[in-house]
Amino acid sequence: MNNWYSVRMRASLHDKHISGGETLVPATRIHEVVNYLQQKAFSHSRGVPTNCHITIEAITEPLVPITMLKVNETHCHTPLHALTDFITSHGISEIALKQAIQLLHANTNLRGAALLHATTGARLDLLANRGVRVTRIAYDAPFLEKWCTQFPQYANARIEEALLLASAVASCDGIIGELCISDDPTYTTGYFGSAVSGYTRIHHMKKQGEECGGRVFFVKGNTDIEETITYLQQKPLLVCR
Ligand code: AMP
Repeated sequence: MNNWYSVRMRASLHDKHISGGETLVPATRIHEVVNYLQQKAFSHSRGVPTNCHITIEAITEPLVPITMLKVNETHCHTPLHALTDFITSHGISEIALKQAIQLLHANTNLRGAALLHATTGARLDLLANRGVRVTRIAYDAPFLEKWCTQFPQYANARIEEALLLASAVASCDGIIGELCISDDPTYTTGYFGSAVSGYTRIHHMKKQGEECGGRVFFVKGNTDIEETITYLQQKPLLVCR
């Protein structure tokens, strides 16, 4: 068995979140990933950080194999009401969706994701501006290589990272969907992720130049929130099929 490490980066400009990134790597790739994350922190369009923390931590439990979501573009250009119908068809209420859209368009960018009750739209985590950060996730390298040759149109770091995170979130019991808008002012494509419908790209989620963005995970009623947060933040997950 490989010795796996969790490598995480968090960069801020005083109190403002600039960039974050995380992955799991075998010991031999720590150097390469630290370099990549440091470059990512210092080349973000949200600004040049005043602080950049990189944490390296050994993983002591076996990695759990999970499935990659299928990408679809079906709802890319649909009008807002069709998008609402699509998202609410997953068991997410219109109120919860409204709450999510409001949160993702507010200027208080979270470093992680907000957990919202899929029916009432109430915020379920108590993590304020930090939110829940999914950290221990990676691709099986041969699997990713094969996927990139099958889907060259999606083979770039941004989509690969988002798809990794969305697949991890969709593997969590109790989460029925995820809505994401990037906080990068130059990138306006977001997505809705779900174990049922896959990874659906949605263009023009915000206007060019806007710094808002974030992630919302919609949680079924009666879900154990502590267990959900522990799974998302601690469980080492490997996308390999
Ligand atoms: P990005 O996709 O990097 O533009 O991130 C957009 C937003 O998603 C960030 O501002 C965070 O609020 C959230 N986010 C990014 N990475 C994670 C993660 N690993 N876990 C939870 N939320 C995240």
